[in-house]
Amino acid sequence: MEFEFSTTKHIIFGNGAIQKLADYTSVFGKKAFVIHGKNQTRYKPILNQLNNAGIETIIFSIPGEPTTTLITEGVRMACSNSCDVVIGIGGGSVIDAGKAISALITNDGNLTDYLEVIGKGKSIDQQPAPYIAIPTTAGTGAEATCNAVLLSPEHKVKVSMRSKLMYPRVAIVDPELTYSMPPTITASTGLDALTQLIEAYVSNKANPLTDGICLEGLKRAGRALYLSYKTGDKSAREDMCIASLFSGMALANSRLGAVHGLAAPLGGKLSAPHGMICARLLPFVMEMNIRLLLEKNPTSNFLKRFETIAIALTGNNNAVAMDSAIWVKKICMEMKIPALREFGLRNHDITEIAQMAMKTSSIKGNPVELGIEELIQILQLAI
Ligand code: NAD
Repeated sequence: MEFEFSTTKHIIFGNGAIQKLADYTSVFGKKAFVIHGKNQTRYKPILNQLNNAGIETIIFSIPGEPTTTLITEGVRMACSNSCDVVIGIGGGSVIDAGKAISALITNDGNLTDYLEVIGKGKSIDQQPAPYIAIPTTAGTGAEATCNAVLLSPEHKVKVSMRSKLMYPRVAIVDPELTYSMPPTITASTGLDALTQLIEAYVSNKANPLTDGICLEGLKRAGRALYLSYKTGDKSAREDMCIASLFSGMALANSRLGAVHGLAAPLGGKLSAPHGMICARLLPFVMEMNIRLLLEKNPTSNFLKRFETIAIALTGNNNAVAMDSAIWVKKICMEMKIPALREFGLRNHDITEIAQMAMKTSSIKGNPVELGIEELIQILQLAI
């Protein structure tokens, strides 16, 4: 067996961890480029903390998905202000914007050249500007991944910019920052973390280190996902922050699967939260994978893995593989995950989406080889 494992160099986890931001920032410099989401008041205390420590702040907002246009504008602003450290505080959109901006501060050329699928996938050669990632959703785990998912409005698709050099230098994961998430955002982001843990665990590039991380994350998500949505319980929020962080660490070192293969073109076409798209697809992809494994390869190790997921999520030691998909379907109903047609997907879009999904790297990580017909069937169920 051979495997590699890399992650964010320094991870600080815990309630109140955000209080250490100024200390970590001052290690890198005195002028910070601070990227935040659409609600500026939420980040005021953090700006005060930095300013009180003598750190100058230049503010930049990512109000929705990180588009290629916004990233280019951010790089120009950070460079013209000679910022020496980048801080991203927000959901996955902001965290990813920070990764791309810090990489392009030190690497010349057009953003498009560095993008996968629609660009040249040019490699990042220079160490990015120091980047501190602070998630406020739980989540994408993007604080522990080395890719930035960016929306190209021109191509209507979400694609990655990726490099082992793009891991944030520091991640501060403070569960208290997630307390303000309303139930719908708790649902979509929490189900994103769950999808990543499941897909990374059954991916054909999983390794013993990602396995351990995924199983711990799945156990926590199993007990905390619904509770965090329904009551906002503090220990459930903490569990979900760990599940999210672990999902990022795992996916960066294994692969994902058909849910993410389909979510990439769907994300470019629909204005729907990424986590909602993943959540809607997840039970149908799991059912398809388990059914095909039972038909074609009933002694497969992947079936055993689905059974382990079922046990971790349900807490029932007698659970079988299909119970994992049943558990996910039930929780998606309880968390009111809408059908994809509510975000504008139409029957005549399905074939094109399936064709685009076949070209993604995630589809290659799926535990069973799926063809276009199977992807069409999944979309017909999820629409
Ligand atoms: P998001 O960043 O788009 O935020 C969703 C909404 O939540 C926004 O309106 C934001 O303002 C709000 N929000 C954020 N924190 C809040 C808080 N504490 N309280 C109240 N509201 C809050 O959503 P997300 O799901 O965190 O991130 C999705 C993005 O991450 C997508 O672009 C997706 O493609 C990307 N992603 C990246 C990776 C990766 O590894 N790089 C992995 C998964 C997803």
